[in-house]
Amino acid sequence: MNIDDYITEHEVIIRLSFFFGIFFVMAVYELISPRRRLLVPKLLRWSNNLALVVLNSIVLRLLFPVAAVGMAVFAQEHGWGLFNYYQLSTLLVVVLSVIIMDGIIYLQHVMVHAIPVLWRLHRVHHADPDFDVTTGARFHPLEIILSMLIKFAVIMVLGPPVVAVIIFEVLLNGTAMFNHSNVRLNKTFDKYLRLFIVTPDMHRVHHSVEADETNSNFGFNLPWWDRLFGTYRDQPQKGHEAMTIGIHQYNKPEQVTWLHKMLLLPFIGKITEYSINSRYSKNGK
Ligand SMILES: [Zn+2]
Ligand SMILES: [Zn+2]
Repeated sequence: MNIDDYITEHEVIIRLSFFFGIFFVMAVYELISPRRRLLVPKLLRWSNNLALVVLNSIVLRLLFPVAAVGMAVFAQEHGWGLFNYYQLSTLLVVVLSVIIMDGIIYLQHVMVHAIPVLWRLHRVHHADPDFDVTTGARFHPLEIILSMLIKFAVIMVLGPPVVAVIIFEVLLNGTAMFNHSNVRLNKTFDKYLRLFIVTPDMHRVHHSVEADETNSNFGFNLPWWDRLFGTYRDQPQKGHEAMTIGIHQYNKPEQVTWLHKMLLLPFIGKITEYSINSRYSKNGK
């Protein structure tokens, strides 16, 4: 059996092992060397954030039983997509596929900040008043569905190898847990590491309540997109300990911690003073 077949056949177990493995490592690291003090007790945060993760997994399984990997198999069997059309070396195609898919995720992330109705969904991720390993998987189910549909479209057009899709999914999942974790990394180590991967200090800037900082560091995995497209911000203005995390309008933990509040968040309140909405004039029209 070649490596491709092995990875495809053991996809679920590979993904689960990486998920629990990285989650465990980051959770222990957070205990040993936390970067900030949490505002909400961990038991309350984790039970609600993880309940959302379980709910999202069930929704995804029910709606899209074959998910992104199934779509990649389908594209390959039907010869759909750019990479199924041209013959290039497998390694090159896998590397290019992972990089391109990561670039699309960056653009998608910018889009969900810019478009008012999508920001309503993405607010659930940002409304977390703390920033730890569970924040990395805290997304509204509708945003998860939207992400999957975008992934399907990208796979149909790009035709990435099945193994590249699995690598990408594992990588994105793992780096999201890593770069949302509440850990203290050596400053010099962070400086060099963030040349290759988005670090917790880099992504924390994106979770600031200040709009100019929220509109920075959209990358989840590779840090190059932010530098390339001009959205890179080195550090938060107030420093990592003093900065406020979350969203201005929803700054009370009881508004945003419980599962049902997270699920309802997209449907309440007005979106008037953020992103594209800054086109509103001063008198509110
Ligand atoms: Zn965001
Ligand atoms: Zn985030």
